[in-house]
Amino acid sequence: MLRVGIPRALSYYKYSPLWTNFFTKLGAEVIVSPPTNKEMLDLGSKYVVDEICLPVKVYFGHVNYLKDKVDYLFVPRIVSVEKNEYTCPKFMGIPDMLVNIDNLPKLIGPTIDLTKNDNKLWKVVLEVGSFFSKSPYLILKAWLDASIELKRYNQDWLNQSFPKELMVSKIDKKQEQEILNIAVIGHEYILYDKFLSMNLLEKLAKLNISVFTTEMVNQKTINKEVSIIPKKIFWNFAKSALGAACYYNKKEGILGFINISSFGCGPDSISNSMTVHQLKNAKISKPILNLTIDEHTGEAGINTRIEAFYDLLKRRVG
Ligand code: SF4
Repeated sequence: MLRVGIPRALSYYKYSPLWTNFFTKLGAEVIVSPPTNKEMLDLGSKYVVDEICLPVKVYFGHVNYLKDKVDYLFVPRIVSVEKNEYTCPKFMGIPDMLVNIDNLPKLIGPTIDLTKNDNKLWKVVLEVGSFFSKSPYLILKAWLDASIELKRYNQDWLNQSFPKELMVSKIDKKQEQEILNIAVIGHEYILYDKFLSMNLLEKLAKLNISVFTTEMVNQKTINKEVSIIPKKIFWNFAKSALGAACYYNKKEGILGFINISSFGCGPDSISNSMTVHQLKNAKISKPILNLTIDEHTGEAGINTRIEAFYDLLKRRVG
């Protein structure tokens, strides 16, 4: 049985049910790297220049973990997943940067660029599937079956809950303490990576804070919210973050925001300042805690800031 490695980083958090099920249904053994740890970050950092953002450094650590354990490594070049919108230059350059790692297995590195023509996706599916099957019928069937899993994963978020795969702690609703609702804005590969986010979601759950995230807002709403911006935002991540923040600012019951981002992130530098600007100019303005992380960020400092933010929210609700 052929083994395919999928790094538990970057696009994994958005598409894992799709790709893992697709490869499995085509008869491959899928090996996903374990959750991020310090060793992975240290090893990953060796392969990239210092200026690279933390999630990409971690990605390299995951690749390094997998490289001797698999026949193929799945490293898509994701350029665009929506018309006239793009991911980010670092996302697009991942397969090129991997040349810094010696003795890599064979790469499955399709270019996913849906900017102009959605039909291209079928070509990608057939190209990737052909590593494991010669039958276009079986490949397309595997894809359709896997797409159902992705739909369920996304629907969990839209139902205001976290997909089970992410193992996010739930609030114990039996406790006497009041539950506070906040929005947390940030890339899913930071927020749901417990090492990178320093267990932010667990920390909030312990404080009885219920979290609403970007993924819980549907695309139609996001597009409507950003339509007030005079210039089109063509960075997909920045658009989603801004749209979700504007939506949650109006949503009753949401008391404030935590914005978590990586030091050195280009799209976040745009979305963070646009978000702050939009929220400050909105009729209702809610408090924001900005957390910018890099490999030197200390957990004690993050804890202190979360607790101070919690106290502020508690004072607001009286
Ligand atoms: S969007 Fe930001 S955090 Fe994500 S890969 Fe690009 S630079 Fe890094």
